[in-house]
Amino acid sequence: MDKDVVLAVDIGGSKVACVLIDPSGNLLSDISTALVPFDRNGIADVNAILEILAPFTRNPMIRAIGISLCGNVDVTSGEAILVPNLHWKHVPVGKLVSEMYQLPVFAATDVRQALIAELIWGKAQKSNYVAWGTIGTGFGGYLFLDGKLYSGFHGFAGNFGHNTIDEVNGYQCGCGKRGCVETFVAGPAIARSGQIVLDKGESPALMKKAIDGKITTRMVFEADSENDPRSKEIINDVIRRVCISLSGLVNILDLELIVLGGGVVKGSPEFVSRISKTIRPYLMTEEAKRDLRIEVESFDNSALIGAGADAFERLGLINFLGANFK
Ligand SMILES: [Zn+2]
Repeated sequence: MDKDVVLAVDIGGSKVACVLIDPSGNLLSDISTALVPFDRNGIADVNAILEILAPFTRNPMIRAIGISLCGNVDVTSGEAILVPNLHWKHVPVGKLVSEMYQLPVFAATDVRQALIAELIWGKAQKSNYVAWGTIGTGFGGYLFLDGKLYSGFHGFAGNFGHNTIDEVNGYQCGCGKRGCVETFVAGPAIARSGQIVLDKGESPALMKKAIDGKITTRMVFEADSENDPRSKEIINDVIRRVCISLSGLVNILDLELIVLGGGVVKGSPEFVSRISKTIRPYLMTEEAKRDLRIEVESFDNSALIGAGADAFERLGLINFLGANFK
């Protein structure tokens, strides 16, 4: 069985990552990354992306290609329904890749793939009530409930980053609404808060770090770790809002585990442990306060690894439920 190989592909908003994986989750090559090729209209060039995969498909042991995409994907057909970062609407990625390389192709949204990586090879093995959450340029996730992936009526479950928390004083969100929790906690929100503090002249630490008068998310995290009071306030406020959001999920769904990944989560080594501590008073039951685990993702690129895990599972080469109910 270990001779079987899948090609895992993660198509993000700016980079395409590829790697060959075996059924135990071992990487059989270095992770290769390339910039997403965009055409002159700013639309990601699907044919050029297909070409990027070519060198990896020469391995005769490849049984399938698994794809993770940063948007809404029809899991059955592999069609990219809406991928805002790539300016894609109804692009039949799965079909195009399958026709070009004559292999089965399994595509899904990145948060689903990241959760599957955790369920099969990561920290969510043997857990039956799990949420994955990405905090990066956006905030969202996917759910595994009662031992099954949960996608909801239309397949859009897990969009907890778009719960409105303040439509009066809040910010415009990429989803079209105003005041979603994402607009307060995602990377761009942290950079914006840092910029406001800098522009008011309230943080000497950020003033030292600013480049051409601009503040990045990373600079705010660095200043926080150096105990800059205003940066600490910003990160504490992000943690508080993430905790309010995730505690709502736990109070509704009685989760046992939340795994967090994404650029903001990697902003500081203590980010997830601070969330794990801060969330307790927001939880309703003593049982949740005692038992809820909040963990950082197991892999550097969970969506990429999960694209491989999902392909093995859908090929029938890994028993998904077996992996969780051993
Ligand atoms: Zn929104």
